[in-house]
Amino acid sequence: MVGAGPGGLAAALQLAHAGCDVTILERRDRVGGRTSAIELDGFRFDCGPTFFLYPRVLTEIFESIGRDLMREVPMVRLDPQYRLTFGAGGVLDCTPDLDRMDQQIAEFSPADVGALRRYMDDNRTKLERFRPILESPFCSPTDLMRPAMLSAVPYLHPMRSLGSELQRYFSDPRLVIAFAFQSKYLGMSPFQCPSLFSILSFLEYEHGVWHPMGGCSRVSERMAEIAEEMGVTIRLGESVREIKLSGRRVTALRTDEQTYEADAFVVNADFADWMSKTVPNRLRRRWSDEKLASKKYSCSTFMLYLGIEGRYEDLPHHNIHISSDYENNLREIEVEHVLSEDPSFYVQNPAVTDDSLAPEGCSGLYVLVPVTHQHANVDWSVESDRFREVTLDAMAAIGLHDLRDRIRVEHRITPADWQTDYAVYRGATFNLAHNLGQMLHNRPRNRFEELEGVYLVGGGTHPGSGLPVIYESSRITSRLLLQDMQSGHRRAKYAAC
Ligand SMILES: Cc1cc2nc3c(=O)[nH]c(=O)nc-3n(C[C@H](O)[C@H](O)[C@H](O)COP(=O)(O)OP(=O)(O)OC[C@H]3O[C@@H](n4cnc5c(N)ncnc54)[C@H](O)[C@@H]3O)c2cc1C
Repeated sequence: MVGAGPGGLAAALQLAHAGCDVTILERRDRVGGRTSAIELDGFRFDCGPTFFLYPRVLTEIFESIGRDLMREVPMVRLDPQYRLTFGAGGVLDCTPDLDRMDQQIAEFSPADVGALRRYMDDNRTKLERFRPILESPFCSPTDLMRPAMLSAVPYLHPMRSLGSELQRYFSDPRLVIAFAFQSKYLGMSPFQCPSLFSILSFLEYEHGVWHPMGGCSRVSERMAEIAEEMGVTIRLGESVREIKLSGRRVTALRTDEQTYEADAFVVNADFADWMSKTVPNRLRRRWSDEKLASKKYSCSTFMLYLGIEGRYEDLPHHNIHISSDYENNLREIEVEHVLSEDPSFYVQNPAVTDDSLAPEGCSGLYVLVPVTHQHANVDWSVESDRFREVTLDAMAAIGLHDLRDRIRVEHRITPADWQTDYAVYRGATFNLAHNLGQMLHNRPRNRFEELEGVYLVGGGTHPGSGLPVIYESSRITSRLLLQDMQSGHRRAKYAAC
């Protein structure tokens, strides 16, 4: 297995449970990939994910290996889920209590009262139609003709964006954003993102926004601990640099230390980064370097992890601030590829829920600013310090005026760091974009179509980026690998890589 990110760890658990002999090779010095922890002077931050949505998928995976997710990693459901502040004016404390939501909607826009329940009912049906699609592999275009796909087609509206879908329910543009900004979880503008993804905000309101105690990174760490208890070998600090081939079949992986042979190989590393660095271009047709370069990629993120003297008791756990000119902000990120002077941003203040993440009397703030992926227009070696100041100034909009005086420790990740330190192609933190042309059979396939014996797992393959679907990809991929092994009548000694 290449990589101990959430997808790789979840696949390792399932393959080990099925009797495979699994070795994970991980280039970094800790597990979790983008879902790992950053530890600084007694502060602990999630590096990437902070929203744990739809625990159902990982709960089922844990059940399938005889474990109880909520016991292994206790989680709390947040209420409010998050506070939304609008640069254009207005604050919404988004709660799963629909009556309280309706009261706030009435203050924003009396004409929109009732729209939320309509939206919830419609998306409940929509999720039920799409769930079988998200749970199955797409190995060829003929899979589009499966009955499950055909029954979901009336809900697909391929020409409609998520933003236009929400405009069918809400007249107030701020309410449209309140239920559409979740496309940013995929690194996309709501006005480019397919309408299918209206299920994202539905998932939050229906199934909850959860905080795993210790952070989302704790989920990765616990999965790694359980994997090791099950006999999985995890080798940290070993980057896979080369593949060994017999025809188009991969027979081994090489790191600086060793060559690892196996019957099958699961790749969890960032798809485009790993392909372009490890698999010779001449072997790739659908995913040659030229084709990879021509694909659409998600945005990136500028990150600050701030260890703060004292606590902000009035600041909720999750805070999302929407730029006063949101459409312009989205254009700057996705079309013009320039940095915004009035950015949207997200701040997590987990101390209000979880005492374990900072020394006594202190708190950690996690700050995420969506920005362009790596592009010639922005040189982070020049812009990084200046953009830190822009970000800290912008945070005054959510009441954080005295921040600079209270910072005790600080860590920063720019898109350039995502690319070099985290091996993410173009620093596009949410992988290949999720436009319909890059989804389903058009996304790199779970049973990788260019090489034999190679399977993909994680945000770069089907169904897509975001923890619930990444865990789902581990189920799809593990099932395919095991089926292939059984139909090939091979011995039950495989995986590795
Ligand atoms: C800032 C940010 C915020 C996010 N927020 C959320 C959120 O709130 N909720 C949510 O659901 N999702 C969120 N995501 C998206 C997604 O859930 C995470 O990015 C997730 O960690 C991706 O998982 P993955 O399995 O694809 O692999 P990754 O986490 O990318 O892990 C891949 C692993 O492969 C390793 N690797 C790479 N190359 C090699 C090599 N050559 N040899 C060996 N190992 C290698 C890497 O070091 C890494 O450990 C967020 C992502 C980011 C970056």
